Amino acid sequence: MAERAPPLIVGAGPAGIRAAATLAAAGLRPVVVDEGHACGGQIYRQPLAQDGRDDRARYGSEAGKAALLHRDFAALGPDVDYRPNTLLWNLRDGTADVLRDGVNHRVGYDGLILATGATDRVLPIPGWTLPGVFTLGGAQIALKAQGCAIGRRVVFAGSGPLLYLVAWQYMKAGVEVAAVLDAAPLSAKLNLLRALPLAPDIVLRGLRMVAALGLAGTRVQLGVSSLRIEGKDKVSRIVYQSGGREHRIACDGVAYGLNLRSETQAADLAGCAFRFDPRDRAHLPLREASGRSSVAGVYLAGDGARIAGADAAEAAGERAALALLEDRGLPHDAARAAALELRLAKIDRLRGALEAAFPFPAHWAAEIADDALLCRCEEISAGEARRAIGDYVLTEMNRLKAITRIGMGRCQGRMCAAAAAELLAVQTQRDIGAVGRLRAQAPIKPIPLDVSLSVDERQHDPAH
Ligand SMILES: Cc1cc2nc3c(=O)[nH]c(=O)nc-3n(C[C@H](O)[C@H](O)[C@H](O)COP(=O)(O)OP(=O)(O)OC[C@H]3O[C@@H](n4cnc5c(N)ncnc54)[C@H](O)[C@@H]3O)c2cc1C
Repeated sequence: MAERAPPLIVGAGPAGIRAAATLAAAGLRPVVVDEGHACGGQIYRQPLAQDGRDDRARYGSEAGKAALLHRDFAALGPDVDYRPNTLLWNLRDGTADVLRDGVNHRVGYDGLILATGATDRVLPIPGWTLPGVFTLGGAQIALKAQGCAIGRRVVFAGSGPLLYLVAWQYMKAGVEVAAVLDAAPLSAKLNLLRALPLAPDIVLRGLRMVAALGLAGTRVQLGVSSLRIEGKDKVSRIVYQSGGREHRIACDGVAYGLNLRSETQAADLAGCAFRFDPRDRAHLPLREASGRSSVAGVYLAGDGARIAGADAAEAAGERAALALLEDRGLPHDAARAAALELRLAKIDRLRGALEAAFPFPAHWAAEIADDALLCRCEEISAGEARRAIGDYVLTEMNRLKAITRIGMGRCQGRMCAAAAAELLAVQTQRDIGAVGRLRAQAPIKPIPLDVSLSVDERQHDPAH
């Protein structure tokens, strides 16, 4: 009888690591691909080179979890076929195209766990493409992985728990944090009272960060609007409205972001059905509590399926692996699976409260200036998009793409599509869920044009 192909896990963050450990413990040897150079994903990202800082300095209160996850994954050793620096760029006919060192590998799999995580979400504001402006996640990666800051005097602006976390991390690293400008009003923060009984440690840790920032002289401002970043060749100040007045703050770096967005392109290529999720304001792949998608043998775990944070990602990765084992007719711990689902449901209630405390400022979409760049890759402004929407009576995202080229460039809509959907919804006075989503196309992330060598691994070599 032919040997079954191994399962494939995409992503070695908290979700992918726990999935890999569960499959390895059951005697399967999963292939784990991750485009990063080391395991850990976003939250537990490892430095590119040792920079003299220890885990406590890098991961703060989460240092223990980071160390445990890194250690557990390293301990799997040859029980997993781990491939770092490897990009999954296509899924076709039940196989995966993964690229490493300029060589494409066509990998067969029996069971696919997508643990692809999330990325930053932004709406264009004037000056957002000036040098010195980073996304919140990008600013954190600079500090966490490269040990450098985006400026000497930095302003953090936008919405989401990362806003305060990254500002605090910069302050701890010795950077002057001039201000934290939060789009959410004070009334939204009352939702933290709902989160308090569910996770008092998380809420209190957040409040301690705000207090520490305040004590260090950082201006913390809620309910800001009409953000504008100014500078000649580089950011030199940020301007915003608050309390009916305009304010200006001098700075040489801005970290800007409005919550996170799930990386769902691989799920799309795998053929998963999607549905609009009002909480995340995004079309997300359908998923059962077990992690099963609408496609047999394809499982979804972690922030790539719905934003829920690192603890949920670990639980969801393990749960999805248990589902895969069950579906392959292998022994699996049903009681553990049920306990994980209960844990995930509790975290989901917490997440609901957090999202309400840090809401996406959807009303900003109506204010996007006509000359603000909406699609950076194709250099399409918000004004050009508005004109096309009016001229061609566009009401759906793929039509907007076809007419304007928004989402056709290098990022394939990963940065601009969510913002373009908000603009389209406002412009056509439709619900954001009704304007659709861009269909994912391979390659889902940029690949070189000169990939000449291809290795066909569909006949799996167990000694690989
Ligand atoms: C930039 C950034 C910083 C964050 N920092 C924090 C933080 O400090 N604290 C916090 O609580 N939460 C943070 N988050 C939220 C964080 O995403 C989750 O809490 C947690 O990391 C989710 O785990 P995960 O396993 O689902 O995904 P991730 O940790 O994001 O891991 C996904 C992995 O999949 C890999 N991947 C994705 N697509 C592909 C592909 N096509 N081919 C190959 N590999 C692929 C990525 O390289 C990544 O390693 C951050 C999010 C972002 C985007």
